[in-house]
Amino acid sequence: MSFKLGTTNNRAILIQDENYYDVEKLSEGKISSDSVQALESIEELKKLASSLTDFPPSGKLSEIKLGNPVPSSKNSYAVGLNYRGHAEEGGMEIPEVPMVFTKHTSCFVGPKDNVELRSDFVDYEAELVVVIGQGGKDIKVENGWEHVAGMCIGQDISDRPAQFATQPPMFNLGKSFDTFGPMGPYLVSPDSLNNYDCLDLECKLNGKTMQKDNTSDLIFNVPTIISYLSGIVTLKTGDTIWTGTPAGVGATQGIFLKDGDVLITSIEGLGEMENKCIRVSDHPRADYLPDMFKGFMPKEES
Ligand code: ZN
Repeated sequence: MSFKLGTTNNRAILIQDENYYDVEKLSEGKISSDSVQALESIEELKKLASSLTDFPPSGKLSEIKLGNPVPSSKNSYAVGLNYRGHAEEGGMEIPEVPMVFTKHTSCFVGPKDNVELRSDFVDYEAELVVVIGQGGKDIKVENGWEHVAGMCIGQDISDRPAQFATQPPMFNLGKSFDTFGPMGPYLVSPDSLNNYDCLDLECKLNGKTMQKDNTSDLIFNVPTIISYLSGIVTLKTGDTIWTGTPAGVGATQGIFLKDGDVLITSIEGLGEMENKCIRVSDHPRADYLPDMFKGFMPKEES
């Protein structure tokens, strides 16, 4: 049974059309108000989702602010260079195995939250994010999708100076500044979509399309990433996997996020996020310009 799971004020909600339903109240306490714990009772959650019409809604979706769908998620794995066009635009080799780094979950924010910039070289990366339902170890590729509870949109916001501050580069911190993980607007279970492994994704900066691709172009697809990761770590309920971004990031064009910029990120069937950028104080490495981007740096306004 398909479902859409979100949060508001850190409480898990199920969403149907324009209405939302508080999960803990509706289940009379049988399912947790914490969305990750709710995913641990995924069979109960699906049953509840299939009977929503029996209950009065808790309210209208238009009247609430949606938060990050999995605010208590423990682990977050992100794949770099997972679309051919993006690897090529950065002058990078196509990896032989998924190139995985961590986005610390402390950077997670909601689908309408602001992104705080702490240098003049911060970039956008539209991505499909999958959230693990039933965890596991040594998951076979052919069983990979069975472990996905839901999918949503993510913006893998990246401070390029911090990302490339050292040699060899270490991506984790540069992609984990506070507010650098907008996700949402809610989780959509894969069975809600006919074509869950073939979804158009798009990123617009101030109304202009910067990235446009389809998740069927992933070099390592969702089940392959799940199988690879679970051969190394035990995947847990609520863990997120950021599957990588297509071509069109700003760094290779000399375009970076500025105070007041608006990012709109959308994925077919999963909705849309809108995040505004706010320039705050500099971080310690804010003026460092990675060599690899110097050729692209930044275009003078004429
Ligand atoms: Zn990314």
